[in-house]
Amino acid sequence: MATNRTFTMLKPDAVEKGHIGAILEKISASGFKIVAMKLTQLTKADAEEFYAIHNERPFFADLVEYMTRGPIVAAILEKDNAVEDFRTLIGATNPEDAAEGTIRKLYAASISENAVHGSDSDENAAIEGAFHFSGRDTF
Ligand code: UDP
Repeated sequence: MATNRTFTMLKPDAVEKGHIGAILEKISASGFKIVAMKLTQLTKADAEEFYAIHNERPFFADLVEYMTRGPIVAAILEKDNAVEDFRTLIGATNPEDAAEGTIRKLYAASISENAVHGSDSDENAAIEGAFHFSGRDTF
């Protein structure tokens, strides 16, 4: 995958609170083009695989429970410098530390229920995008 793509999920808390439209609007207004998108729900096995890097952490069971409790929006986004610019747009993992105007500052409730995911590297963006979408679903 080209290095100008990243992967995002609008997490169950954001969907439950009705923030899909506002968050997608902010993503579009920030110059990202949506090249794949769907409403879906992670199974326990999906969440355990997606977050496998955290499987020794004390919050892992709660993270899997949270990420599987309702629908998410999964999407692949395109923009120059997509991974880094999207991490800037979403803000710090903990909304208390997130900059004003970032998606997590605006919509996240806590460090665990933090509204949105953004890939942290080009390599992970490609892996995470392929986890959710086939080539046929990606434009
Ligand atoms: N998380 C959590 N407690 C923590 C740290 C992280 O519940 O102390 C959750 C949170 O939903 C976060 C996800 O685990 O988004 C992945 O953590 P990571 O450190 O990779 O943060 P991110 O890349 O999402 O900012």
